[in-house]
Amino acid sequence: MLSAVVGASSTFVSGMASSGIANTQTRSSLGGNVGHYRFRVGEISATVLSDGVIGGPPRVYASDAPEAELQEVLRRAFLPNDHMTLNLNTLLIETGGRRILIEAGAGGTMGPNAGRIFENLAAIDLTAADIDTVVISHTHPDHVGNLRTADGGKAFPRATVFLPKADWEFFVRNDPDLSYMPVPEDFRVRFGAAIKSSLEPVTKDVELYEAGAEIVPGLTTIVASGHTPGMATFLVHSGNEQLLLTADLAYHPVVNIDNPWLPGPDRDKETALASRRRIFDMAAADRMPVLGFHYPFPGLGRMLKTDGGYAWVPAGWQF
Ligand SMILES: [Zn+2]
Repeated sequence: MLSAVVGASSTFVSGMASSGIANTQTRSSLGGNVGHYRFRVGEISATVLSDGVIGGPPRVYASDAPEAELQEVLRRAFLPNDHMTLNLNTLLIETGGRRILIEAGAGGTMGPNAGRIFENLAAIDLTAADIDTVVISHTHPDHVGNLRTADGGKAFPRATVFLPKADWEFFVRNDPDLSYMPVPEDFRVRFGAAIKSSLEPVTKDVELYEAGAEIVPGLTTIVASGHTPGMATFLVHSGNEQLLLTADLAYHPVVNIDNPWLPGPDRDKETALASRRRIFDMAAADRMPVLGFHYPFPGLGRMLKTDGGYAWVPAGWQF
């Protein structure tokens, strides 16, 4: 989540203006790289579909990092010291005759470099109308922004949308106190409003789930609260194969896996930390393939347990 909600103060968009990737026309005229990546989980066909990128100041995603250490870690990772790019790796799974999209992506809610999911669906010969189900880990704008079209309609016209019940209660049915977020007040206001407006077109079709529930055979939700009251992570499973999706347990592997720093937007940092450790420990112990929503595209790899914590090991590209 967190970064450039549209119209955010200049501090929060400064890094994005110079990213050099402007819009669809520019990208296609430059012959941009693919934004989808296919693989399988047993009998389930899976495709990472990029919605593009968002980002913000590294400090937002590493709230407790000593400044000198943070700067050194970024330098050694060859990352800019003033802006961290976060990917938006949504996952399409096709199983049991259904097309299920896990996370909707940011759309236009958090800056100009997201909203690419539709062109990436088109690249695999699908449209938004081919999606039967959308499953959301938590209701932050970068996960729900694409649910609303520019004119306020349903972007996935046939889809049933599954959301965690506790997030619906916190962000949608109430006016949440977002003062825990390490961003300016005007950003918080837009952030809260973006959640409500993104979800408004699907209010009648929403299915609220409790983390732990199975959404469809082969897709189970796992309790992972802390980042938000209701956040879930996901397990995709078929036969002996499985894939763990870590949602926003971590933003960027360099600051939240290879280093143990706490994401500033975690609402309940202790609970989020406990969820992170429990699920990362499971991933490491079982040597599970992992997909990170915000990790560098396509976001696939494994979690290694180290003496002091964890290390992210990206998977090799499969042709
Ligand atoms: Zn997110």
